[in-house]
Formats: sequence, C-alpha cells, structure tokens
Amino acid sequence: MLRFTALILLCAATAAVSPAWSQTPAQPIFATTKVEGTDNVYIFRYLNHQAMFVVTSAGVIATDPIGYVRREASQVYLDEIKKITSQPVKYAIYSHHHYDHIAGGKPFKDAGATFVAHTRAKERLAQLKDPHTVLPDETLQRKRTITLGDTTIELSYVGLNHSDSTLVMRLPKQKILFAVDFIPVGSVPGRGMIDSYPLEWEGSLKRVLAMDWKWLIPGHPAPGDRLGTKQDVQNLLAMLQDMLAEVREAARAGKCWDAAEKEVKLEKYASVPGYEQNLPFVVRRYCGLWGRGT
Ligand SMILES: [Zn+2]
Repeated sequence: MLRFTALILLCAATAAVSPAWSQTPAQPIFATTKVEGTDNVYIFRYLNHQAMFVVTSAGVIATDPIGYVRREASQVYLDEIKKITSQPVKYAIYSHHHYDHIAGGKPFKDAGATFVAHTRAKERLAQLKDPHTVLPDETLQRKRTITLGDTTIELSYVGLNHSDSTLVMRLPKQKILFAVDFIPVGSVPGRGMIDSYPLEWEGSLKRVLAMDWKWLIPGHPAPGDRLGTKQDVQNLLAMLQDMLAEVREAARAGKCWDAAEKEVKLEKYASVPGYEQNLPFVVRRYCGLWGRGT
C-alpha cells in the first residue's frame, strides 16, 4: 500500500510557509529529536530542512549545516548540539552540493570541524564560490568509512540521482540511513527534478534498497516526522518508473513540451501529496529526457 501522506518535500524550499495542502499543524521553527531506539542519533530540523548528527565518545559527526533559508539556522544547530554534549563537532558531512542543505557552515568550521563531501561537490562549490558555503576539506569518490569513538558511519556514492554529488550516509550499527532529496519520503518529487538524472536515479534507488538499513532520515520532514523505510523507496521507484513511461509515450507522440505538460496525468498517484503542484516538474524533466535526449 502506498503510504503517501506527507507534506511536500522540495529540495529548493524557499519559505517557512507550509504548502496549502499540508495537513501538518504549525510547528516550532526548529526542533532536535533523538531517533527512537538509539542512544546517540539525532535529527535537527529547521523549518522544512533537517540534518542528522551523531554524538560519539570522541566527538560529534554532524551533517548538512542547513543555513540557507535562514542564516542563523546553522548557529542554532550548533547550539542545539552543545545542549546535548560537551564533545566537539569533529566532522561536518555534506549530503550533496545544494546550498539549501549545506550553506552556513561557518560556525562548524570555527568550531574545528573537518568538512567532508563528494569530490564533485567540492568541484562545483569551488566554481560557484558562494560566500556562505564552506568548501570541503576532504572528499571521496565512491566510499569512505569514518570511525569516531564508538561510532562508525559509512559514506557511499550510489550514482547520479537528484544531483551528481549525493552521498548516502549509513550507520551500520543502528541500521539508519541519512539521504537527502533523491528519496522524498511519501510525496511526488517537485523542484528536485530540475537538474536530476532520471535514468540513473532509478539505479541509485536500487543500490540503496540493496544496502542493510531499517530507517531512513530524509532531508525534509516526512508526515508526522516519521522515518522512511525500504517500502518508501520501493514506492518512489515504482512511481518514477510509471511517470517515466507515461511521458515517454507522450514524447514519442510529439507532445513535449507544452501538450504533454497539459495532458499527462497519472491518476493513480492523484492522492499522493504534491501531485498537483509537482507533476509539471516531473513531466518537464522527463520531456527533456524523451523529447530531447537530455
Ligand atoms: Zn538538493
């Protein structure tokens, strides 16, 4: 059964305002919550973005500073960590190169954290020179395991998907995964489609399904702040495959771009949050693929 009851999950969320169709009541601006069943894994949420951090016996491993929508978010994030532990933040790991998740790392840098990202993220950020985004100190291409105190975190590149620089972060002991934007939990992908790699995206979802984990922490809150599961990944994969096939038919009938955007509907997914608003993004991206080969 599809369990799409989430509020919209947009990579490029630009405002604190919940989408009109969201059923989620007003929330505080930020919150820090310990992941149930663990004694050291936390989610920090600020507005509609969230990051994971892990408190170990030898320091803290933090992810995504999320200081883009509001600059103060990353300082709040660091202050929240300090309320939980006196251990220093040793690592700040970027999920991918998009500013809405990784801008604002200066407080973490000043606190002595080593920044880690995919090689392509560093290359891209070096080109863009965003004054609010810290360049990674260390990079990886495929895989890296970081052990800090009693905790191990495994960083994996699973191929092209929503970006070309996405790292999946896995805590083997806790069977937890942190993955951002290419696995929206319980919604139709929207703006995150814009610069995506649709064919390769499917392969990266299959690689994630083959990994050993139970719970997924997404980069944007899921309905009721629930964690994602492998079923969510399977649902997303099926939905993307259906949409891909539908737009291929429209493209081969010469309907891309405008006619396809007006005509393509996938009623099967009409009740999935984000359907109405996000379908045009999906059709446009797949029209690029099937109509142009891009
Ligand atoms: Zn993104």
